[in-house]
Amino acid sequence: MGEIRLGKLKPQLFLFLFFFLPLIFSNGCAPRAVFSPQKRSLGLYHVVKSGENLFRIGKAYDVPYQELARINRISDPHQIHVGQRIFIPNATRQLPVEIITPSEATLEQPSPADQQERAREGFIWPVKGSITSKFGHRGQTFHDGIDISVPEGSPIVAAEEGEVIYRDELRGYGNLIIIRHARGLVSVYSHNKRNLVHDGQKVARGEVIGEVGSTGRVTAPHLHFEIRKDNVARDPLHYLPPL
Ligand SMILES: [Zn+2]
Repeated sequence: MGEIRLGKLKPQLFLFLFFFLPLIFSNGCAPRAVFSPQKRSLGLYHVVKSGENLFRIGKAYDVPYQELARINRISDPHQIHVGQRIFIPNATRQLPVEIITPSEATLEQPSPADQQERAREGFIWPVKGSITSKFGHRGQTFHDGIDISVPEGSPIVAAEEGEVIYRDELRGYGNLIIIRHARGLVSVYSHNKRNLVHDGQKVARGEVIGEVGSTGRVTAPHLHFEIRKDNVARDPLHYLPPL
């Protein structure tokens, strides 16, 4: 056996001797980082703004508010204040919680004045399909809209004319579009396969704004549709024409 010289080492052997072998003995110290598949986002701090609460913040970021309370050592979830920093695990950017989530929900019927308005202007159905989940209490949580089962890729139309105030992809909602209409009304469309509008775009009633999909936390393609009045979630069936 001759003396082994570096210059004569085969590449594989070279790799083994100078890279893998030291790694085996390093017992998982610094070199581990070399093998981490990708840099994971650890999270960020959300600064609480006026009108927000832990429940709404959790909803926007798709983290249960109880978990946010635990991580941030908040003993009473009702006791958070404007300017407080809340750590959100795995989040990559701050979200406009005020726009994404309704401030509350109500099972109340619209007032007679609202009903007159509704008859005059009239929302239209954003898609045609069967309702698989209604507005209201759903187990421990509250469903802020209705779920309409529609085949993947079906066009979604604006339920009323208005302006796109938010359009993005979010963890729980998937692709989401929010449109502001007259008189404090807002409509929300989520789990879209594709959003076909941009922020600030004016849309006409019936104009195609996206395609039905199954993005976000869902089991099958459907449209999650919300109507809010003055940022309070209302039963969309009170605003839509009878099926
Ligand atoms: Zn839904």
